[in-house]
Amino acid sequence: MGRNLDAKCKQCRRLAEKLFLKGERCYSPKCAMVKRNYPPGFHGQKGQKRRQSDYGMQLAEKQKAKKQYNLLEKQFKLTFLRAKRKPGDASENLLKTLELRLDNAIYRLGFASSRTQARQLASHGHIEVNGRKVNIPSFEVKEGDIIKIRERSKKYKFFKELPERLVRQKDNVPSWLNLDIKELAGKILHEPRTSDIKANVNAQIIVEYYSK
Ligand code: SF4
Repeated sequence: MGRNLDAKCKQCRRLAEKLFLKGERCYSPKCAMVKRNYPPGFHGQKGQKRRQSDYGMQLAEKQKAKKQYNLLEKQFKLTFLRAKRKPGDASENLLKTLELRLDNAIYRLGFASSRTQARQLASHGHIEVNGRKVNIPSFEVKEGDIIKIRERSKKYKFFKELPERLVRQKDNVPSWLNLDIKELAGKILHEPRTSDIKANVNAQIIVEYYSK
């Protein structure tokens, strides 16, 4: 599978927005958006902003969502097409579909500090859903599903230290998820509503981008 090889912090600086791609570093003063809040490159510091066309704005919003959820172009478009086929509002469905990806749910529960790490946890076989190993990061979870760290993985240092981190971060878990720190498990209580999603993405603009 392809990978996005762009330096993560440069992606944030280019879009002038924190995309939270580097785990705990993103919340620290070491974040490049704190230290160098201007576009990368030789002319970045001059800070001359060009007026953006409607198309440029739509493209930037799509790029932002794509990078935030750590997807490649084709994966993002397929996600959009899947969301569009569902009944209801396409922009709400897009956000919901992105949030219900297994790698995103692992990240939202706090089992991983970034979506990149969450994807690794899934693809390396550390996660089970409803008692069965699932190593597909794009797997769509649904209401009632239980996501759990597999018993055999709990012997690793990363997972032994996880409860301590979860206690610190438990207040960040969104209301559509229920975290059980003792069991290293999380339950999907209901599908996320737009108001539950802290993604800073205007999905309506993305729908307009793909409607051209
Ligand atoms: Fe973006 Fe995180 Fe890098 Fe900050 S530390 S620029 S939020 S990837």
